[in-house]
Formats: sequence, structure tokens, C-alpha cells
Amino acid sequence: MVVAFKPEIDHDSSPYQTALAQFDRAIRYLKIDDGVADFLRYPRREFTVNFPVRRDDGSIEMFTGYRVHHNTVLGPSKGGIRYSLAVTMDEIRALAMWMTWKCSLVNIPFGGAKGGVVVDPKTLSPRELENLTRRYAAELIPIIDPHTDIPAPDLGTNPQIMAWFMDTYSMNKGYSVPAIVTGKPINIGGSLGRNQATGRGVITVMMEALRYMGRKDAESTRLAIQGFGNVGSNAALAAHENGFKIVAVSDVYGGVYNANGLDIEALMAYVAETGTVDGFPGGEACTNDEVLTSDCDVLIPAALEDQITARNAGRIKAELIVEGANGPTTPEADDILRDRGVLLVPDILANAGGVIVSYFEWVQDLQSFFWDEDEIYRQLERILTRSFEATVMTAEKHKTDLRTAAQVLAIQRVADALTTRGFYP
Ligand code: NAD
Repeated sequence: MVVAFKPEIDHDSSPYQTALAQFDRAIRYLKIDDGVADFLRYPRREFTVNFPVRRDDGSIEMFTGYRVHHNTVLGPSKGGIRYSLAVTMDEIRALAMWMTWKCSLVNIPFGGAKGGVVVDPKTLSPRELENLTRRYAAELIPIIDPHTDIPAPDLGTNPQIMAWFMDTYSMNKGYSVPAIVTGKPINIGGSLGRNQATGRGVITVMMEALRYMGRKDAESTRLAIQGFGNVGSNAALAAHENGFKIVAVSDVYGGVYNANGLDIEALMAYVAETGTVDGFPGGEACTNDEVLTSDCDVLIPAALEDQITARNAGRIKAELIVEGANGPTTPEADDILRDRGVLLVPDILANAGGVIVSYFEWVQDLQSFFWDEDEIYRQLERILTRSFEATVMTAEKHKTDLRTAAQVLAIQRVADALTTRGFYP
């Protein structure tokens, strides 16, 4: 008898419950063996590390970090590293599972992983942040390698942190191993376009979705973006370059709204100076909830999980949601939005630009041969456009929403590969 995997849920909102609910919804459309389905519910490996960091005042503080390999059937596992006080094993497990489906959906030869440290990076000095990163990287050495598991940046981490991570791994090996991590600075083996890739990809997919909806005019399309970090700010910039109007943005400190469109260049300069969109003089102050429910045509959540829930889904005015963040919408909210006719492009498709260019970075590092930016963006757009079309065709075939369709495609590919490989021993 097959017993469905029931993980321990360790806090109120459970991203992993969301990931499993989405999985169960998708496999109803698939003809896969119950045992294969159950195998795909389990993470392959879960690793917890507790380690000390010496603070600048000489005191020692303990930190907890995680790394989960969800699935490695299609290739080495791939996924970002998150620094946030909200990090839990449950969250990392969900994010690792979504990485498996994301890589499969866009047809790149990676499995899914994710990592994180329970820390607010803003409370550490640069030296403390470097020490924490180096010790976490050293703790992960038994389970990472350019051919087994390749980390990348995510919420709260950035190219400099990837540089310290790569250097720590390389010092332990005794030679430079750039392919151990992606999202690095360009001068140590990073890829052109990687920093912009996720946000830019979100806008590529948004434009495909608008075309599919029959909306062609950029100037009259108003966007609201929650989160103004790597994904949100690069999405805003790409949207602005393509002629769209951004009416609302927010970050952890607050938000700003301007019905006539925010001056994105001035906003970027303000954020570079102050570190937040809060207080930007080119609009009225608003809350995060007001950004999500603001008067706009497209909503791009680009911050955290569990932002669009049964509580606010009925008040969302956008007719298109493009998920820049991972897991921003709960299954209950998915149902409400579908019933209201809101089109939602799911995370595993909408924000896949990041892992696609991470894949290009890894290939370039392994070959020590680097591509120009035009080539990177051409290949990125080709993969995203093809993946969008395949998802729409699957949704039409099964008469279902885009999230379920994307998962159907992704899960089928992993299940087929697993069946072809067979079960060891
Ligand atoms: P980031 O740390 O660069 O930026 C996060 C942004 O969200 C910041 O503006 C922060 O202030 C804001 N934020 C944090 N908590 C918030 C809250 N409670 N309410 C409102 N805003 C809040 O992170 P990022 O790399 O841009 O990642 C954002 C999301 O995109 C995450 O879900 C991440 O998993 C996903 N993602 C990132 C990448 C990537 O390449 N960086 C790729 C795919 C998906």
C-alpha cells in the first residue's frame, strides 16, 4: 500500500503543504504509477547544520542552516540560498520541490534543491556576513559539488555572497571551482545577464501572457510590483524599457503608488541611496496589502510565499498575475482567482529566467568559454517563449489553469525519466 508523505509541519503557514496540494492537483491529469507519484513527494536528502559565527564584539552566536535536495533524476540539483529569519525546513523543502518542477518545465538538465540560513542579513556587519557565508559553505561541502548540487542567490543573498561561497569551496579544494555556484560576479566566472535574468524573464513571460489575452498596448497596461529586490527591481526596469506603466511598488518597509505611473529611473536612484522604496517622493505612501489590491492590470508578486491568500484574492483588481516570487499564492487563492477569471502565470514558469541563465553560467564555467549578452538573452527568450506555449497548450488540452498545466508537464518529464532509468538497486 502506498502511504502519502506527511511531513512534519513546523509553523502556521506551510509552503510545503501548498507544494503538495499543487502536486496532488496536477497528478490527477497524469497516468503515473502511485509508487512513482509517492516517490516524487519526498525530498531525496535533507541536511541541517548548526554553526558558530564570531560577532564583531567578540561574542559567539550560533546559526542554523539547511540544504534540501528534492530530486536528482534529471541531473545535479540546483537552487538558491536564502538568508531570512522566516527560513524553516518546511519552507526550504517546498522551494526545493518547486525547483525540480521549474527545471523540468523549461527542460534544463537539473534537479531541484534549495538552501537557507535563519538570519536577518541586515543585522550583520560585512565581516560577520562574510564569516557566516564562509562557515555555511564549509558546512555544506559534503553535499555540494559542480556535478551534484549547485547553489545560487535567492532572497537576502547576492553576487558578493556567491563570491565568498565560491572562494570558500575553492580554498578547501585547493583550486578554483567557479561552477560550484551561479549568480557570481562577472569577474570570477559569472554570466552576463544573470543578475537581470529573473526580472527580465518575468516581463518576457508577462508579454507572452498579454499577447495570449489579446492585449497588445504596453502604454495603457499598468503594473503593480510587490518586492523591489533583485527580481522586483529588474522586472520594473525591463517593464519600463518595454513601455509599460508601473503604478505601485513595495518592499518590506512600505510602498508607493502613483496612478499616472512612477518615474522608475528616479525610484531606482532613490532606492540606491536609501535602500528602500518607502518615502519615495514621486507618489503616495501605501501598504503592501494596498499594492496587492491596487488598481492595476498586472500584479507581480516578487517578495515572499503566502502573499495572495483567501483573505485578499477576492479584492485583487489585476486581470493578470505573474509570479516573480516562489509560492506567493495559496491553493485557496488560486481557486478564487480562477473563478473570477484572473489569469495567473505560475512561479515555475514566470521566474524561471533565473535558473535558465544560471544553467548558462554553469555551462560556461565548465567549458571556460563565455558567451556574449545577445546570445544569452536570445537563448533565454527562446526557452521561456517555448515553455509558455507548451504550458498554454497543456492547459487547453486538459481544460485547466496554467499552474496545474505547468506542473503536469514538469512532473510527467521527471516521472518518464525516472521510469526509463529504473529504480536502484
Ligand atoms: P531580494 O532579497 O533581492 O528582494 C526581496 C524583496 O522583497 C525586497 O525588496 C524586500 O524588501 C521585499 N520583502 C521582503 N519581505 C517582505 C514582506 N514581508 N513584504 C513585502 N516585501 C518584502 O530577493 P529576490 O532574489 O528578489 O527574491 C524575491 C523572490 O523571488 C523570492 O520568492 C525568490 O525565491 C524568488 N526568486 C528569485 C530568483 C533570483 O534569481 N534572485 C529566482 C527565482 C525566484
